[in-house]
Amino acid sequence: MIGIICAMQEEINQMLLLMKNVKQIQSFPFNFFVGSIMGKECVAALSNVGKVHAAICCQAMILNYKPKLILNVGVAGAINEELQIGDLVIASGVIQHDFDISAFPHRKKGEISGINSVEIKCTPWIMEKLINFRNDFPQISFEKGTILTGDQFVNSLEKRLNLKKEFGGLACEMEAGSIAQTAFLNKVEFGIVRSISDGANNKSVNDFNSFIDLSSKNAAKLCSKFIESL
Ligand code: SAH
Repeated sequence: MIGIICAMQEEINQMLLLMKNVKQIQSFPFNFFVGSIMGKECVAALSNVGKVHAAICCQAMILNYKPKLILNVGVAGAINEELQIGDLVIASGVIQHDFDISAFPHRKKGEISGINSVEIKCTPWIMEKLINFRNDFPQISFEKGTILTGDQFVNSLEKRLNLKKEFGGLACEMEAGSIAQTAFLNKVEFGIVRSISDGANNKSVNDFNSFIDLSSKNAAKLCSKFIESL
């Protein structure tokens, strides 16, 4: 069983278009969709937005479906100015930019208690396999790098530049870090595929609304190709 987690309806819609024999299972507060992609058994979940939703959804998926790996698929704002709308970002790792215990000696900004590191690395073979599909999508740019997660929609140049200065990273969004942490703590392998919906700037609300379908489609297409190859 392959697990897929999307935060928003628009994102999961593009996954469901690629899934066959879909059965919807309402497991309050989440909807799970069980079916197959290219003959492989999958469960897709709609988590809703933000770290808490994503973490409890990921835990519920792990307990109920025991997926052998989890993909987090969706859209993100660009932190790196070279990224364009629709480009695909494959996470090498994720940082929770709003986790801050740096008031304590020897703790860095973003460092997570218990795990004691700032970045949680994605499962290397999943990341490599995802990035290697770049040749199958010559019309879409692929980048590999760090994704920044926090419970905030980044919609100003100032916020974006601050994040870039503090953590580096390619893109920002609101779920991947908590899915990575949940999967890591449960020893489940995981990968993160995001497509750029906006520039995390003062146009980001408009761009997000205009491009969410296109960007979600790009992320879903890559995810499906990956699942086919398993
Ligand atoms: N319209 C929704 C909120 C969407 S928040 C509502 O009203 O509930 C944005 C979603 O897209 C999050 O799931 C996040 O992961 C991703 N995202 C896209 N662009 C982003 C940005 N600039 N900053 C943070 N998250 C972003």
